[in-house]
Amino acid sequence: MKLDAEQTGIDASVRWWNSIPAKLVSGLLLLTLVAGATVWSVVAKQQENLFLEQRIHEAGITSSIISRDFAEPMLGGAGTAVWSALTAEAAEIVHKNLAIRVFVFLRDGRIMAASDKGAIGSRIEVKGNPECPACDSTRAGDFPASAAVTLPSGAPGLRVISPIPVTDVCRFCHQKDDEARSYVAVDFDLTPLARARTERQRSILIMGLGSSVILVVLVTLLFRRLVMRPVEALMESMTRVAAGHLSARTKILGKDELALLGRHFNHMAERIEDQVDRIETAHTESELLYRLVVEASKSLETSEVATGVARVIMERLSPRRVTFFLECADGGWICATRTMVGGGSVEYGEGFFEAEIALDSGRFRKLLQGVPRQLVEEACRVQALRDLREDSELTVMLPVVSESRLLGLLACIGIPASVRVDDALLNNLGAHLNLAAVNSRNYTGAITDSLTGLKNKRYGMVRLEEALSFARRHRSRVGLALCDVDHFKQINDTYGHLAGDAVLKEISRRIASCMRKSDLVARYGGEEFLLILPEAPLDSLAAIGEKVRLAIEEAPMGLGPCAGTVSVTLSVGIAAFRADSDSGEILMARADAALYRAKKSGRNRVVIDAT
Ligand code: GH3
Ligand code: MG
Ligand code: MG
Repeated sequence: MKLDAEQTGIDASVRWWNSIPAKLVSGLLLLTLVAGATVWSVVAKQQENLFLEQRIHEAGITSSIISRDFAEPMLGGAGTAVWSALTAEAAEIVHKNLAIRVFVFLRDGRIMAASDKGAIGSRIEVKGNPECPACDSTRAGDFPASAAVTLPSGAPGLRVISPIPVTDVCRFCHQKDDEARSYVAVDFDLTPLARARTERQRSILIMGLGSSVILVVLVTLLFRRLVMRPVEALMESMTRVAAGHLSARTKILGKDELALLGRHFNHMAERIEDQVDRIETAHTESELLYRLVVEASKSLETSEVATGVARVIMERLSPRRVTFFLECADGGWICATRTMVGGGSVEYGEGFFEAEIALDSGRFRKLLQGVPRQLVEEACRVQALRDLREDSELTVMLPVVSESRLLGLLACIGIPASVRVDDALLNNLGAHLNLAAVNSRNYTGAITDSLTGLKNKRYGMVRLEEALSFARRHRSRVGLALCDVDHFKQINDTYGHLAGDAVLKEISRRIASCMRKSDLVARYGGEEFLLILPEAPLDSLAAIGEKVRLAIEEAPMGLGPCAGTVSVTLSVGIAAFRADSDSGEILMARADAALYRAKKSGRNRVVIDAT
């Protein structure tokens, strides 16, 4: 996969002339050229030296032969004949030695015999003539001597001069100190040597070029396999990691230094991925916990805490389903559920939810859809986090515990593998949930009437003041109703207090069922209830009061521990808030006065304050 500069910020292309193979090939070519030139010059020099040595040797042999063959005739006094014979012989020597010309000359330079008859009798300059080296000398050690000459054809030539040795026979005529009386000069054509040199040059060039091409191809192939392949693989992995694909690893090829480098890179990438994982998990955790704190601080109401937690967990951990049980202050429980597609809902139950889990009721199985029973039970029993990974999804059971008491249970069902969740995060989450549950429980306990589960008087009075302030600011309406059970004392007296408690609970349930969401019902005293009715129009207050009264009257109520039922009635006094003149106390007094009139006028009725 090719990644461009857009993803990494680095231009991934390398100009061909900057590439390592290009540099390597040009280096190799240069090297082979230098090596070829060196070899060529050394070989050429050797060939020339050999050629020279051979020619000097041949010239030496020639002069020895002349000395041997012509000394005797020379002694016989046939000088002229000897020179003539020598001239004839010279032509033969030329032929045998592949020479161009041969001539014999005396120490003074006079040519006595020559393969080129025209030259006989002429004289060559012996002193200072570059073509006649060592001619000044009489020392034998200076011979044979050689010099470069230009042949009559204009071609380059080699002249080798050898002294004709003086033999014993020669001593009859020649002085003792005469080392040599004459010399033989043999000229060779250097053209074949130059031609051979050109030939050699060409073949060395061809061989050099051929071998350098083969060398370059071999080295390039080897380099590509051993160096470029691992380097390119490493480069691609690095680019991918740089672009954020932290799981990218390089393929390890072989066991050389580059393979070691690749291993180091993979190790480094693993560590980076690990660190990023940790950072992301920490980020998820801090986001989740922050949202939980925000949500829990919005309201301390158990139902709102439960639904808020379920919503945050769904948003942050994206499970298929969240089910969150919380114990309520009145001894019942609440369960907020949320699914990815179906939104959220809340259910209430009585008694301890742990007991219902143990019963494995159909209701619980429905709420904890698909979670293995064993996992739920174990989490509740050990009061610790339990999880299960199935089909790359994670299911988590997180008990909410305070002072060894199970206050709740969070079930996150089907968290996808892409969401980073670890035990530390979940345990931290558990600690936050414990805190939220305890706070909510304490708060709810403080504002709830423990017998009826309704809000208590203190809470009711605070909410009344809030409602009146709001109504004053927004010029809106508020109705206040005081309800008192008729002849309740008789129920206690007849059936006992426990039966009275059961009746009070039923009355509370029926009154609460008549209320809108925005209304509030609180237990004001023993068998008295306070209803705050915001935004209720004046003409609807009587109807609301009547609805509540009828809800109590319409059916007899069970007596709890006692068998049978009892008919109960309710008197209701209502007052509508007047922003210009009413305080909370005045409004309460007006409602109380209306209630008094309802009692006085025969009970089981609704009276609206009309003052
Ligand atoms: P009225 O129609 O005039 O209101 O008559 P009443 O009997 O309802 O009024 P009274 O004030 O005489 O009696 C109220 C009784 O309510 C007295 C008290 O024992 C009873 N009561 C108050 N709180 C509770 C409670 O929590 N449980 C039970 N069982 N009874 C309670
Ligand atoms: Mg009363
Ligand atoms: Mg009463």
